[in-house]
Amino acid sequence: MTDGRDDLPDTDPFEAAPLRLTVNLEALAENWRDLARRSGRARTGAVVKADAYGLGIEDCGLTLYEAGARDFFVAAASEGETLRAYAPEARIFVLSGIWLGQEATFFDSDLVPVLASEEQLAFWMSVLSERGPYPCALQVDTGFNRLGLSVDEALALAGDVSRPTSFEPVLILSHLHSGDAPDADGNRQQLALFRQVSAAYDGTEASLSASAGIFLGPDYHFDLTRPGIALYGGQAALGMDNPMRPVATAEARIVQIREARAGETVSYGGTHRLARDSRLAIAAVGYADGYLRNLSGSGVPLRSAVPAGAFGFLAGQRVPVIGRITMDLTIFDVTDLPPNAIHAGDYIELFGPNMALDTVAAAAGTIGYELLTSLGLRYERRCLGEGEI
Ligand SMILES: *Cc1c(COP(=O)(O)O)cnc(C)c1O
Repeated sequence: MTDGRDDLPDTDPFEAAPLRLTVNLEALAENWRDLARRSGRARTGAVVKADAYGLGIEDCGLTLYEAGARDFFVAAASEGETLRAYAPEARIFVLSGIWLGQEATFFDSDLVPVLASEEQLAFWMSVLSERGPYPCALQVDTGFNRLGLSVDEALALAGDVSRPTSFEPVLILSHLHSGDAPDADGNRQQLALFRQVSAAYDGTEASLSASAGIFLGPDYHFDLTRPGIALYGGQAALGMDNPMRPVATAEARIVQIREARAGETVSYGGTHRLARDSRLAIAAVGYADGYLRNLSGSGVPLRSAVPAGAFGFLAGQRVPVIGRITMDLTIFDVTDLPPNAIHAGDYIELFGPNMALDTVAAAAGTIGYELLTSLGLRYERRCLGEGEI
């Protein structure tokens, strides 16, 4: 070789990456088993839409399948197609339903459409008249005003003796709008309506609860639960400590450590003026990596509503973001760390076991779901534990 590459050390890309994400598959499997226990007599499914909340549908799908999940939910048929290879015997429900032209995708990958409107139903009946029996699920809107047949439409369909025998709903589902708030009246109202609908579909399984609903108790479990965020370690039920194990750890490398003087400003707009001589750690993560600009320490409108920006975790302590987060770089104030505690090249934890995902999300005025699904393409990824591909 003439390019000298043979002389270069053979390094693990994870060890050298400016930005890296660890997905703990053992924690994921444990979270699924934990939710399965909490789901009592109901079966426990797994929601793996949006690339398993940003953590990787292949690794996460296989891990959940090996843990015992046999009912998966995706948003789009393309996600179901990917998942099929990792969950061969599972039922895969597609929450956005089916459109003209997608029939082959559904039949080839054995995906079950979740039908949500009279138009989708009419289309589905025409598909069945050509193909014959094939399972589907029905989504009923019990108060969310998002997707689903109205309660009246669902009851009318249940009583419609003229509906074709090839029409085989295998699951009736609905979704709670305030499942994370145990005292919300909406939960009891949606429960009452859903009971009415599921009773009209005697013999068809019913599913009401996502992660949060599992914590509302057995009345809400029906035949199948549909956890998503709690599998990935996020906070589902508010007002209690999060019992789930963290699954994702995001870390950024510190590119440079610099000394700055009192009175100087930091980052775009000069919106943070240093009150003391400071040490700053410049980390290789920015809003292009889903480290949202609203996590900035100053200089974004949200800071007038939520005063503190995000913290990272470094050398055993929490250190604040200061100034604006930029596309590729973020500045942390490390003045309070012992002088020799950190060096350029060290990794700062953005979220993970020491810096809760939901605490970071709250600093951006958002939820863990959005942080995870915004991670972007620059993370070097590593999986730990069972199910690793
Ligand atoms: C996303 C979704 C879920 C999972 O919700 P989590 O809050 O992440 O547990 C369940 N059911 C439906 C219909 C969904 O859209």
